[in-house]
This record gives sequence, structure tokens and C-alpha cells, in this order.
Amino acid sequence: MSLRFSAIESIARESGDAPAPASTKITAIFNENVFTLKTAREYLSDEAYKSLASSIRGGKKIDRAVANQIANGLRAWAESKGVTHYTHWFQPLTGTTAEKHDSFFTLKSDGTAIEEFDGAALIQQEPDASSFPSGGIRATFEARGYTAWDPSSPAFIIEIGHGKTLCIPTIFISYTGESLDYKAPLLKAVESLSKAAVDVCNYFDKNVTKVTPTLGWEQEYFVIDEALANARPDLIQCGRTVFGASPAKGQQLEDHYFGSIPERVYAFMRDYEQEAYKLGIPLRTRHNEVAPAQFECAPIFEEVNIAVDHNTLLMDVMSRVAKRHKLVVLLHEKPFAGINGSGKHNNWSMATDTGVNLLAPGKTPKTNLMFLTFFVNTIKAVHDYADILRAAIASAPNDHRLGANEAPPAIISVFVGQYLAKVLADVEARVNTKFDEQDEAILKLDLHRSIPELMLDNTDRNRTSPFAFTGNKFEFRAVGSSANCGISMTVLNTIVADTLRKFKTDVDALIEKGDKKEIAIMHVIQKYIVESKKVLFEGDGYSDEWHHEAERRGLPNLKTTPIALDALLTDKAKKLFESTGVYSHTELEARHEIELEKYIKKVQIEARVMGDLAINHIIPAAVKYQNELLSNINGLKAAGLPETAYSSQLEILKKVSEHIQVIHTKVHAMVEARKVANNIENTRTKAIAYESQVKSAFFDEIRYHVDKLEQLVDDDIWTLPKYREMLFLR
Ligand code: ADP
Ligand code: MG
Repeated sequence: MSLRFSAIESIARESGDAPAPASTKITAIFNENVFTLKTAREYLSDEAYKSLASSIRGGKKIDRAVANQIANGLRAWAESKGVTHYTHWFQPLTGTTAEKHDSFFTLKSDGTAIEEFDGAALIQQEPDASSFPSGGIRATFEARGYTAWDPSSPAFIIEIGHGKTLCIPTIFISYTGESLDYKAPLLKAVESLSKAAVDVCNYFDKNVTKVTPTLGWEQEYFVIDEALANARPDLIQCGRTVFGASPAKGQQLEDHYFGSIPERVYAFMRDYEQEAYKLGIPLRTRHNEVAPAQFECAPIFEEVNIAVDHNTLLMDVMSRVAKRHKLVVLLHEKPFAGINGSGKHNNWSMATDTGVNLLAPGKTPKTNLMFLTFFVNTIKAVHDYADILRAAIASAPNDHRLGANEAPPAIISVFVGQYLAKVLADVEARVNTKFDEQDEAILKLDLHRSIPELMLDNTDRNRTSPFAFTGNKFEFRAVGSSANCGISMTVLNTIVADTLRKFKTDVDALIEKGDKKEIAIMHVIQKYIVESKKVLFEGDGYSDEWHHEAERRGLPNLKTTPIALDALLTDKAKKLFESTGVYSHTELEARHEIELEKYIKKVQIEARVMGDLAINHIIPAAVKYQNELLSNINGLKAAGLPETAYSSQLEILKKVSEHIQVIHTKVHAMVEARKVANNIENTRTKAIAYESQVKSAFFDEIRYHVDKLEQLVDDDIWTLPKYREMLFLR
């Protein structure tokens, strides 16, 4: 029996039981495995606690002596929970997380065995990093990179089976100081944003001393049966199906969205949620998504650095917990053709240390002006740096999704809703008229009462926008489901920081010329609206009209990753990232190189898997079927039946032969195209070749013929689980 059929048989035996949760109350387990400040209070001396707390709040350095104390406290806490090992936990540019476990156990010089964890081990480690991507920053003869503790993200304990490991969140940098991960630049961007935003906040409120970007991500994913997934080499190796005919029932009935969650998946969800709560991940929402077998979860928003850590951690936890339920989580952006792909919406805002959400419309004219300031600056940032924002979400898997009529297009535009669009138009209409003291109507915009209602009305339409204002935050919807959202958050915070800095310079210049503060601010806001209004779009982002309109407006529509990534190397990008201190030129060039290499490798793997499946699964099944047909035809002929008795069989036979021919020829031509691409020296040119000469030139065509065969060949002979099985059986 083929793997496919034994998998289908085994599904019926799955029960869908989850271990009963230890407690029904989430609060009882929340943060159980996290070294929160509250826990730190119990385990640390006054001095160590204060030092840790102020380092978390104000980014103050922790000295060695105190680090020793903190390390001791951490170990005592971890050991009380049965932990034997620790690891520096980091997010290298591979996109997954990395750990190298060391035990607390060590031997003293006289051979006495002790358990130890000192400040040095807490603060810095040198993993052998030569096999992480570095984009050429770190020549292999100088393979050392090191991880450095990030005290702003709390340590946590990962439980795998009965093993427990203390994880220390760290950044990962090269020996020469360049960042090699997602976290280090994000922390710099956060700092840059805080500084720029505080300066602007101080026009309105002198008490603001810190601004923190906030992120609430929504993670979409597919869940399918593990045995079925194991029978699909493409899912195992690429995370997506490269072949598969559309099932009779797809998502056309729209019966999955918000429908009742299937029992087995529900058990899985409850299980991973328990783990997430223990790790301090504040999950709040779970529901079915639009496509069959697609689901979503979302937490309460958090400070961006923590939110990114939590998302990365959760992706790990989900995949691990799924195994316990004999399920597989697919985080890929487009695991199945013909139905929706998965995204990771990034809900983003900025909060002051005085407790104000800077993107929430205010309650007084003054706070409204503050809202309008941050609102317009964000729009201007997206307008000015749309190409860099696009580059931040560019990846081989996300290319399948952006612009595929169910995800936002690759054109970056901003949706603000009817009401705010009108507000902006009103402000803009005053071009060339000077605001004066009497001009109070604008300053007294009644935003706080009107916006919430209007936003509710508009939520349906903004589903097609890559960057939508949703009442008190922006939602960056074009981020891919498997991405580390550190990169999109780094870029977003950096471009807003840069725009706010320019804003301050512009306002100050007008004040110096004698404008009253509010008037100067209003003037610059007006100027920014005029300069960036072409990025505003309220209509249907999926429509053809928008593509034409966007072209007319001169908005870029970069459909493929190798080209979209060019935005990282422009003078504009270099200046932006250097002046905000987020990436040096070397780091930018390295990122560009790494992303291109990732792209090439992913397309290369998919091409190989396609070839392998075509030659070893598809064609053999088709040939078997041909033989069946042939013996049938010959039998009928021998029995003396007229040709009409087997003419249909002949026709099928002919069709099967034709498809086999094309598949075989194209797979070989694709191999040749790969050879040509592999000989290209320049990484960008090579990536473009992989995109145009390998992927675009062959993938769809080969798939077309394979999927046709799937529909012709005897179901009994077909070895790969079909879409209807993967999407609907559990
Ligand atoms: P929905 O979009 O489903 O209507 P919400 O708007 O309440 O639900 O929230 C969606 C996501 O946005 C959640 O993850 C939530 O935590 C997050 N979110 C809400 N407010 C903010 C904010 N100020 N900053 C960042 N994220 C936020
Ligand atoms: Mg939402």
C-alpha cells in the first residue's frame, strides 16, 4: 500500500485528545516559565534587581559584578524548576531561531563537580557561527561571531519532553561588530524611533521621555495531518505543494471562515496555547481562516522587541506541539495553489511613557493635533520609503502571495478610511493659504468621536490594503506568515524615525521664522499631505484598475524578490539606515546578499523537488496507468470488439502520453536552465535568472501537465496525497 493510502487509513484512528490543562485559569500559568521582574525581585539582591530593572527601562548597562549576581539568581530560579542546561537564544538570518545548549555542570580545577552560571556566561557567548549566513561579512577563516545578552527581553525556560532549558535572549554580531541577526538592528531602530518621537511629542507634552513602538501580530497558518504531509516530499522539503489539482470543493462555499474549529485542531490549539502562556506569550484570539485547514492566532500587543521574540518563539512551539498531535503546521505563505495563502499582519503603533497611544485620536484639540502629526508622519514615511518597505517583505514564498488576488498587491499604498481621507483633503485644500490664529476649525477636529464608528464601517474594504489604518494603529498586512517580523518592524520604525526627525527640523525652521508652534506644525502637516497623498488609496487593492492607477501615479509595483531587494542598496537607503544608526553600508550590503542567496536556494530546492517528484512519482504512476489502458484495449481488440468499444481508452492513453512527453522534456530543460544559472557569478543576476529562467519559465507549465495527469490517472495508482485529502481530512 502506498504511503498515501496508509496515511488516509491512519487518520480515522486519530482521537484528537489533548492533555487536560493543569489549570482552567490562564492567569495561573501565565509567565510561569519566564524570569519576569516580579520573579527577579524574589531571586535577586536589591542592587541586582535595581540594575536589571533600570537596564530594562532605560537601556542602562549592567556591570560585571552585578551580572554575576543576576546569573546566580537566574540559575537558582531555573534549577528550582528542574532546569539543567542553558542556552543563548538568538535569531540568525536564516529566519529560524538558534540555540546551543550548555549545562550548568562544570568541574573545578581539583575535579570537584559543581553547577555554575556566571555573569560572563550570561553576557556573552561565542557559538561556532561559521555556518550561519553572514553575506560575506565574516570570512570563514574568521568564523567567530558572538551572542550578547539582551536584558530588555526576559529569560525563559523551554520545555521539550522532560528536558528543560534556560534560554537567554541575545543579539548575534560578528567579531567586527556587524549585526548578523534580526534583533540587533531592531533594537537600534526602536531607539532611533524613541528619540525622534520624543522630540516631536515634546511639542505637545514635555513629560514624555520615552516612546515605545508596539506590535500585535496576527499569525496565519495551515494545519494538516502529519502522515499525509509525510507522503508529500514537497511539503517536507519546501513547506509548500509544488503540484496538486484543485479539489472539487475549495473555499468557494466560504464555510470555513470563523466556522467551528475541528476537534483535532482544537486540541492542538489548546495545547500550544498552554505552552505559550507559560512562556508569557499573551495569546488572545484563535479562529478559522478563509481557506480550508487554515487558522489564525493573535496575542495582545506588546513592546515590539518582545512581540517579535514571542512570535518567533511561538512559531517554534506550534511546530513542536503539532507533532504531539500527529499534525503538521505549515507556516509557508502559499502551501496550496488556488486557495488563500497566509500572512502575518503586523499591527503597529507607538506608545509614550505617559501612557498615550500616539495613533489614537485624542480627546482635545491639542491631542488631536498630536495624533494628526504622528498619523501624517507615518503616511509620509510609507510614501517616501515604499520601496524599502517592499524590500522588507520580499522573499521567495511571499512572492506567491503578494498580488495573487487574495493578499495585498506588491504595490505599497495606505488605507486611512473615508473620514480621515476627508480630514486630510480638508487640510490639503488650504495649500497656499496661511494658517492663522483664527483658523481653529482644523485644530478642533472632532476626531475622537467620529473615527471609531467610521473605522468599523470600513474594515471590510481595508482587507485589500497592504497598509491600513484601523482606528488606533496601522496594520501592515503584506508581511509573510513565515517571516521573522523583526525585519519589517526594523524598517517601519526606522523610516518613521527618519520622517519625524525631518518633521522636527521643518517645524523648528518655521518657528524660528516667527510662526506660532501650532501653526508651524499645521503647515508642515499640510506640506507632508501634499507630498505623500499619492500613496493613499481607499479602493479595492485587488482590482486591475488599481494596478493601472498606481502606475499612473508612479507607485512602484515590484513583483519579484530579486528586483524588490534593489531598494536596499540605493543611496537613499544607505543614507536612511546610516543616519539612524540602524545598518552600516556593510551590513546593508550583507543583508542584500543574504536575501538574494536565500531566494536562489529556495527556488533551486523547489526546482529539484519538482524534478524529483515528476520523474519518480508522477511519470511512473502515469506509465502504470498507460499499461492498464493498453492491456484493456488489447483485450477488447482480441475479443473482436469494434474500435468504438475502446476509442475512449485510446483517447485517454493519447492524452496521458502527451502530458508525460511535456513533463519529461520540460524537467530536462529546467535542469539545463539551472546549470546555466548556477554558472552566473553575480548573486543578483543569478537570482534574476532563477526567477525568470527557472521559476517563471517552467514551474507553472510543468505543474499544469502534472495536475492534468492527476485528474486522468486511476486514483488507486496516484501516490501523492491529493488536495482534497490534505485540506479536508483530520
Ligand atoms: P481586529 O483587528 O481583529 O478587529 P484588534 O483591532 O482589537 O482586532 O486587534 C488586532 C491586533 O492588533 C491584536 O493583536 C491587538 O493586540 C493589536 N493591537 C491593538 N492595539 C494595538 C496597538 N496600540 N499597537 C499595536 N498593536 C495593537
Ligand atoms: Mg486585524
